[in-house]
Amino acid sequence: MNVVDAMIADRLQKALRGTVRQNEPMARHTTWRVGGPAQLFIVPADADDLRIALEILAEADCPWHACGYGSNVLVRDGGINGAVIHTGYLRGLEIHPSGRIVAEAGVPLMVLVRRAVASGLAGVEALAGIPATIGGAVAMNAGAHGQAIGDGLKRVTICRKDGCREWPAEALEISRRHCLLPENGFILSAQLQLQPGDKNELARRMLEVLKTRRAAHYVGAANAGSVFRNPEQQAAWRLIDAAGLRGRRLGGAQVSEQHANFITNDGSATATEIETLMQEVAAAVAQHSGAQLEPEVRIWGELNMTGNV
Ligand SMILES: Cc1cc2nc3c(=O)[nH]c(=O)nc-3n(C[C@H](O)[C@H](O)[C@H](O)COP(=O)(O)OP(=O)(O)OC[C@H]3O[C@@H](n4cnc5c(N)ncnc54)[C@H](O)[C@@H]3O)c2cc1C
Repeated sequence: MNVVDAMIADRLQKALRGTVRQNEPMARHTTWRVGGPAQLFIVPADADDLRIALEILAEADCPWHACGYGSNVLVRDGGINGAVIHTGYLRGLEIHPSGRIVAEAGVPLMVLVRRAVASGLAGVEALAGIPATIGGAVAMNAGAHGQAIGDGLKRVTICRKDGCREWPAEALEISRRHCLLPENGFILSAQLQLQPGDKNELARRMLEVLKTRRAAHYVGAANAGSVFRNPEQQAAWRLIDAAGLRGRRLGGAQVSEQHANFITNDGSATATEIETLMQEVAAAVAQHSGAQLEPEVRIWGELNMTGNV
């Protein structure tokens, strides 16, 4: 189904100050470096642009995905019937001496972490090195080393077709790698409250975390981090390893030798190869240990190419 016609694209192009592209290859916008084209690729210039884009897309009944760094998504080879709204221009960041931080969705998480640490604010230093934007980090409740973005989160401004409003963090049912966004809600910005800390100690912790991450996560090829969620009381990588799948290859996709819960793309993989390998891994683990692995990565799009704009 082709849900985007040239008239919607034209309307968006006229109405927005940001970028509107057609048939944009999503391999350019995901860390796995795979994925067919999005029929529409929109980068709103600011909050007003975002609101207008959401309104036009809703009127045209055009589905959309919000996209940040693309480090937790697998876009299928057939591309996306609909729109991708990218947060690339939403980069406002305010850090107040009181520890209050207001960050727009497209701010790289690492920028926020560095600025917080340099300001002597504690609560996000262990998130250093997670490849994320603030929007993606909040949507996934990104976390590591016992810290998660949701810990210091107070309010989230969420836009929908009828406007933007603030939601208290408690309303979003934040839990491990989970955040319940209202339907068709796009995170515009997040407000965090951090605590005062010792700058030197925070910087030491941040560097330590980066070092650990480099050792554990450097897999030498394009990837999307952990592919599967950890089942209750178990580590997905251990289950995958125990099933003898470390190093398993399918075309250009491979279960990483360094980290068994990562699947790498050697540069030639298709999204179908990655997804099929994921299915093989989940089936082999279920057979070996009885554990059911659920994907942590979000899967978007169509298996086969469809007519585009
Ligand atoms: C090498 C590597 C290491 C990683 N390590 C970790 C780790 O230690 N801990 C961890 O938690 N994750 C980790 N990840 C996964 C990933 O970085 C996180 O899930 C991150 O939060 C995704 O952010 P993003 O900006 O890339 O979001 P995307 O991948 O672009 O999107 C992820 C989801 O968030 C939604 N989203 C994005 N922006 C918005 C928005 N503005 N409004 C509404 N929804 C939005 C998308 O629609 C999608 O459903 C790792 C990934 C890689 C590649």
